[in-house]
Amino acid sequence: AAELSVEAAVSIKLDEVSFRYRDEWRPVLKGLSLEIPAGSRVAIVGPSGSGKTTVLELLLKLRTASDGRVLLNGRSTLELREDSIWQASNVVLQHSHFFRGTIRENLLLQEGATERLSDEALMLALNKAQLGQKSLDEEVYEKGENLSQGEKQRLALARAMLRSGRLWLLDEPTSSLDYVTERQVLCELLQHAAGDTLILVCHRLTGLEDMDAIVVMEQGQIVEQGTYEELMRRQGYFYELKKIELQMIGEAG
Ligand code: ADP
Repeated sequence: AAELSVEAAVSIKLDEVSFRYRDEWRPVLKGLSLEIPAGSRVAIVGPSGSGKTTVLELLLKLRTASDGRVLLNGRSTLELREDSIWQASNVVLQHSHFFRGTIRENLLLQEGATERLSDEALMLALNKAQLGQKSLDEEVYEKGENLSQGEKQRLALARAMLRSGRLWLLDEPTSSLDYVTERQVLCELLQHAAGDTLILVCHRLTGLEDMDAIVVMEQGQIVEQGTYEELMRRQGYFYELKKIELQMIGEAG
């Protein structure tokens, strides 16, 4: 099997992809087609259960499409080695793994990393993740149980930012943060990932103005897609979701 290169940003193509769980009648993804050029930053939004995570799982070969093709740099993921995809990617899934040890040690848990990163590099990543008040020597308890959900998410993001992959696959990485911190973290992240291909799965619609495209999913299908401005102008599903969110956080529409 071929390797996915870590050197350059990665293009993504989903071609009529369907996915259903074994023994399930209802498909989770229904003929999904999506093209993300190398270096593009895309948010996938939509209600819980619409299939967003499954898209990331297909890209990471955690699942295999029941139908259709998933392509990275024009090559079917079936032909690509799974470890090379993970190596080329900076991944934050919903349940990040932490172990007993210092924050420094947890940050250094880099798959395939050979060189030891300097404390400066580690602190820079913590700062970008808005976790600069933490000390590298602070102990992380078993599974990170002394950290809040939001701190765990930020630590996971700092860890991703220490990796050198050119493909970012992020599943609700800021869902437990307050709106202000979320905005700051996303802003830092987009700067840090400049030039890379990035998929951000989220159900909140904050800070998406700077994404190259927003893909709106519902029940395993793409129902809308465009830039933030285009989707707002269209006054369709995304616009309605955004209106509800603005009401909920009490901002003036
Ligand atoms: P999202 O990320 O948009 O919340 P997911 O991709 O996680 O959606 O899930 C899509 C659908 O797949 C959901 O309806 C969910 O119930 C279903 N699903 C997830 N895991 C399984 C499983 N192991 N078996 C059957 N259905 C599942």
